[in-house]
Amino acid sequence: MSRYRTTNPATGELLQTFPTLTDEELEQRVRAAVEAYRSWRTTTPEERAAILARAAELYEERAEHLAQTITREMGKPITAARGEIKTVTGIFQYYATEGPAALLPEPIEVRGTGSAYIRREPLGVLLGVMPWNFPHYQVARFVAPSLLVGNAVMLKHASNCAASALEIEQLLHDAGVPEGVYTNLFADHQHVEALVADDRIQGVSLTGSDAVGARIGRVAGENVKKAVLELGGSDPFVVLDDADVEKAAAGAVQGRLVNGGQTCTSSKRIIVVDAIYDRFMEHFLEKMGAVAFGDPLHEDTLVGPLSSASAVEEVDELVRDAVDKGAEVLLGGKPRAGEGAYYEPTVLTGVGREARAFSEEIFGPVAVVYRAGDEQQAIDMANDSPYGLSSSVYSEDPNHAQRVGAELETGMVWVNSTSKSSAELPFGGVKKSGFGRELGRLGLEEFANRKLIRIP
Ligand code: NAP
Repeated sequence: MSRYRTTNPATGELLQTFPTLTDEELEQRVRAAVEAYRSWRTTTPEERAAILARAAELYEERAEHLAQTITREMGKPITAARGEIKTVTGIFQYYATEGPAALLPEPIEVRGTGSAYIRREPLGVLLGVMPWNFPHYQVARFVAPSLLVGNAVMLKHASNCAASALEIEQLLHDAGVPEGVYTNLFADHQHVEALVADDRIQGVSLTGSDAVGARIGRVAGENVKKAVLELGGSDPFVVLDDADVEKAAAGAVQGRLVNGGQTCTSSKRIIVVDAIYDRFMEHFLEKMGAVAFGDPLHEDTLVGPLSSASAVEEVDELVRDAVDKGAEVLLGGKPRAGEGAYYEPTVLTGVGREARAFSEEIFGPVAVVYRAGDEQQAIDMANDSPYGLSSSVYSEDPNHAQRVGAELETGMVWVNSTSKSSAELPFGGVKKSGFGRELGRLGLEEFANRKLIRIP
């Protein structure tokens, strides 16, 4: 059976299957992309920006339909799915508005006579490999700036959100992106590796797990190919002794549970200093126990099903492993009985270093809470992770929070907030969370040839 098939995780019903590309079909698409790139690169940034602006309009017009597809095929609660489409609209609008000016030649003050400047030019045909957890947002982060610069994009989406993948392709073509300049690929894993190794592909952007990132990164490295890797995270959520505990508890619930906890920047490790630990836990447990959990089509639902039955098994395995090694379950701790891929919102404490959950990413609604003796220990615990994506610091003194934030080994720090992506804010991590940045001005630079022109 094709690897591209969509199943409604709320019911387990198989919705649709999509044929995987044959080798010949893939080759035709690569050739078409190379051909289409030749003329796309000669269009002006303003022409490309107008197409992105039209894509934003279509995102607005089609928002409800696109959101319903997201909910149906990966289980995201409908309100959050609408929020995702709104963010994506903002990304296309941002690059349509800010992009052309950012691509103007940048003069350099030269030492000596003459002049010099940097031109930002496209690299060529790029490959994107994207995950299912934000079916439109992950794609937009890579595609909008890449197209604006003048690159062509081939996109292999996750196999469980194939309907969204086709809707993205249709929307971009309807907006005026020529055939071949954006191509959806229902490719298999070998195809992906072959494309990364193919000299006709000039760069690859992968958003996904660190295991797959390592594979793609290896092939890219062997072929000296530009790569951006946006990988997993185990974000610390640090609550300092001068935090407003109630606000912090509400933030931790949102940070951990948004998208069913299946977000790279979920607050997966909640680290609370001893002085306020008990007060924080009182609020946190109460709020975690009260979240709206269930039907993703219900407007108020915060936690719906996970993306698949196997995702539930993976989360449960990590929780059971932690419990076997001494962790305590304060809330939830098991799959919900009955139909659908549901896992109960869960709170664990006492997760020791030997438990897998200590260092691995739990991709589900499971909060792990740690008690830190003092602030320095909280910082040390926050940094004691192979990942370094984002982090949150709560304190009623923003300067205090920023001082602590400066000590954290992450690509992003949020003060008194959890991670909330926006088009102008660069997104990316350090350590095993990958490298490169998406969004904002920095995202525009990743797949551009910053070409020096020197006139002595
Ligand atoms: P995944 O298993 O790594 O898959 C990501 C993409 O890679 C999918 O399109 C998948 O295709 C493809 N893939 C998997 N194995 C491959 C292989 N051997 N060769 C080529 N391609 C391969 O990740 P996921 O489960 O979809 O997403 C969850 C992960 O993404 C989490 O770790 C999360 O933290 C991370 N994430 C990171 C960010 C960020 O910005 N840092 C954002 C969102 C998610 P198939 O579906 O066909 O297997």
